[in-house]
Amino acid sequence: MKIAVDIDGVLADQVGAVLKVIEREYGLKYSKSDIDRAHWSFGGIEIWTEIGKLLSDPEYVLQVPLIEGSQNAIKRLFRHDVFVVTARRPNSEVATKQWLSAHFPSLKQYHSASTGSKHNIPSDVLIDDLDMNIVEFVKSDPNRHGILFQHPWSLNGMDIESYSNQVSYCPDWQSVVLAVEAFDRARQ
Ligand SMILES: [Mg+2]
Repeated sequence: MKIAVDIDGVLADQVGAVLKVIEREYGLKYSKSDIDRAHWSFGGIEIWTEIGKLLSDPEYVLQVPLIEGSQNAIKRLFRHDVFVVTARRPNSEVATKQWLSAHFPSLKQYHSASTGSKHNIPSDVLIDDLDMNIVEFVKSDPNRHGILFQHPWSLNGMDIESYSNQVSYCPDWQSVVLAVEAFDRARQ
């Protein structure tokens, strides 16, 4: 089974990393629970603008921490064809691939796709932390399954409820692995 995995918010704790920078650079302290939508902003600056700037710095990219449980879970999915699909821009690709080979040596295929277009990459499953990616993915094919990796910013008013038979909601990697295996059994 082909499984596409998002990087930011799924493998990499991007929001945790940027909140540290925001505290250091701007003296503003936020926690993940404050980030209640994808287009969250602080003092007029959108979080994704800030992350985009930071990702152009290889040193920043290489130190972004892992989402808890991600390494072990990717190992447990070894029977499947698991690969990365990210909306990160080309200017961070070299450092991102270095980060991936350091932490996830089994993930060798790398696909770029902007937010909302990840469904164009052939896959049976998409694991992603944003509802817009999951909705477009399951909408494109009734045989596909989307796994929403739940964070406070994951739901952005998409009609994800309309596709509930094709979607699993998972708050951590342990439940992601269970959802993948359940979908794999169901389709056999
Ligand atoms: Mg993401």
